[in-house]
Amino acid sequence: MVKSGLLDKYREAREDMVRLLGDRGISDERVLSAMLKVERHLFVPIPLRSHAYDDAALPIGEGQTISQPFTVAIMTEALRVKDDDKILEIGTGSGYQAAVLAVLGARVFTIERIPSLLKTARQALDGMNVRYVSKSSDGTIGWKEFAPFDGIVVTAGGPEIPKTLVEQLKVGGRLIVPVGSHDFQQLKVVTKKSESNDYTVEDKSDFKFVPLIGRDGWPETDG
Ligand code: SAH
Repeated sequence: MVKSGLLDKYREAREDMVRLLGDRGISDERVLSAMLKVERHLFVPIPLRSHAYDDAALPIGEGQTISQPFTVAIMTEALRVKDDDKILEIGTGSGYQAAVLAVLGARVFTIERIPSLLKTARQALDGMNVRYVSKSSDGTIGWKEFAPFDGIVVTAGGPEIPKTLVEQLKVGGRLIVPVGSHDFQQLKVVTKKSESNDYTVEDKSDFKFVPLIGRDGWPETDG
């Protein structure tokens, strides 16, 4: 994962990125240390690698982006991952968020709707010694076979809280999902309160995500 000495020429840039995340208010040391371990440049297209540790979203093809490190940190912190937690991610994209979750000790299940992106993400993830299961499909309907999950993170923005995902949480589990319009979304932390799917919602800050496209997201033509 992390090479030592001269081989890891991005080490300093990664340390600077993590320091910046701390300055921006990320206080969970486990999250910061996972982000220090995962080599973000391996999840970014080669021509953009010199920007891999900027606190910015970057294009990964197919009109999609690898999320900004600050956004990944906020979402990961909000999930409160414990060792061996089952975490479902909707929107594998580059695979970076999945890698951070796996390094934190989660059992990661990740779904991406665009097969070519999933193929590239798998190559990057397989290069690390992490455990994850992935598939290409519409993640708004979740992954019933492996439910219930301790946590679910949706890395694309939709019009409403996807109810099927709430159903696939354990009681006490958390769903982190950006909800809003096409142009901006508010990050919501949804906590499931009972088997009958009651939940509470805590609002975090506003962000701009790529659209969540699917049955409980935006229609295909919008993407
Ligand atoms: N977590 C990613 C972020 C990628 S951007 C990373 O760390 O790089 C969000 C991704 O969600 C895009 O790749 C997009 O194709 C995907 N997506 C959008 N709607 C989806 C859906 N219904 N199911 C699965 N993936 C979806």
